[in-house]
Amino acid sequence: MKVRVRLAPSPTGTLHIGTARTALFNWLYARHLGGDFLVRIEDTDKERSKSEYTKNILEGLNWLGINWDEPPVLQSKNLSAHQDNIKILLDQGLAYRCFATEEELEEMRAAQKSQGKPPRYDNRHRDLSQNEQEAFKQKGRTAVVRFRIDNEAFIEWDDLIRGPMSWKGEDLGGDMVISRRAPAEEIGEPLYNLAVVSDDSAMGITHVIRGEDHIANTAKQILLYKAMKLNIPKFAHTPLILNKEGRKLSKRDGVTSINDFQELGYTSEALVNYMALLGWSVPEGMEERFTLQEAAKAFSFERVNKAGAKFDWDKLNWLNAQVIHGWSNEVLLKNLSPLWVQSGWQLPPKDWCIKLVELLRPSLILIKDGLNQASPFFEEPTLQEDGNKQLQQEGAKESIKELLIQLDKTPWDGIQSNQAKEILAITANSAGIKKGLLMKSLRAALLGTMNGPDLITTWGLLARIGKDRKRLISRV
Ligand code: GLU
Repeated sequence: MKVRVRLAPSPTGTLHIGTARTALFNWLYARHLGGDFLVRIEDTDKERSKSEYTKNILEGLNWLGINWDEPPVLQSKNLSAHQDNIKILLDQGLAYRCFATEEELEEMRAAQKSQGKPPRYDNRHRDLSQNEQEAFKQKGRTAVVRFRIDNEAFIEWDDLIRGPMSWKGEDLGGDMVISRRAPAEEIGEPLYNLAVVSDDSAMGITHVIRGEDHIANTAKQILLYKAMKLNIPKFAHTPLILNKEGRKLSKRDGVTSINDFQELGYTSEALVNYMALLGWSVPEGMEERFTLQEAAKAFSFERVNKAGAKFDWDKLNWLNAQVIHGWSNEVLLKNLSPLWVQSGWQLPPKDWCIKLVELLRPSLILIKDGLNQASPFFEEPTLQEDGNKQLQQEGAKESIKELLIQLDKTPWDGIQSNQAKEILAITANSAGIKKGLLMKSLRAALLGTMNGPDLITTWGLLARIGKDRKRLISRV
């Protein structure tokens, strides 16, 4: 049987890292076994669902390289199928209309609370007689539809990640609402568990892989599958993603949506690589830096942890640097030049830009580091504390003046680095300046700081666009 898995996001927000990681585990499993990965947009909450979020979710998956095999399904399109299923359950007496008002339910919960009991529906309308039902209808009461959950029910499944799981019917909160309140003759809006079972079955889903926060739903859904006489898929519950304090990663942690990571300058390759490692560990002999295809080949649920996965920024940064350092000059330039252009910078000819990205590459961790670090090549850098300190050293400014004199005699166009080294040597020798002092002062004068990439290449790039001498003159 061909494996068919799905991601079923609710479009009530942008693509969250947790949802993206669930998508990835589904995708890896499907690709590993040559199965299908599908997407179903669970857009039945009309108030909170927005088409822009659907767009964001699909674009985010696409950016990460998580592709789907059939056009995304919109859950709202399946409304009548959901209602048909509810009707069948009603006809078979497996579900019933509950006429309890919100106030009555509130009272019931308050009483449970005062007795120190957890809230649960007390199944009060489970066995209403025909007359009792009629009486409620006469009073104009609306009703929800509830699915019977026997206290004695015992639900078991073999979770692909967590092993044997079991749940008691009595721990599921009483008979479950499967459709919202509506006039008593109608069937209201179907609710999550019913809709999911109905859709997963219609889509031929063989494996439901989702976050561990859905474990109780799985128990309820298995009861629905049985009642509706449908094939029960296999289940895998993935571990939560935790922040550094060990709590569930949430909006309060700041960065949680895929867009946030994109904006911070993470590459899709590094992010998706890192996401795979959030819960999955590579088999022996496999490097932690891998492509999606390599991960798909090696993926199995045996190596997915049950315990929550702590988010580790250092590892993500390390992976991101690895990805960027592995890019060719062309690819790096393609990623950086739009940022430079957005900053209003005029770009010199391509061979110059290629040299610049080559120079910056080793120190880049995030893509946008290539914006900050390129800045002194396009804009006049401010003199920072360390640069200023260097230029205040005895003989520092004089060394730059001597260099300028030498440059008047033998101008350097920035091409031959040997020539630059020679000019520096002649300057040091003829004026009796220590070479170290000259080099450090040159760096401070060119970049305004003592940090930065290779000095001769930096100088060469500035010289080729006629920026070096002007800058040196301004510093002395
Ligand atoms: N719409 C549900 C969610 O986003 C889907 C859960 C599931 O995969 O069944 O949590």
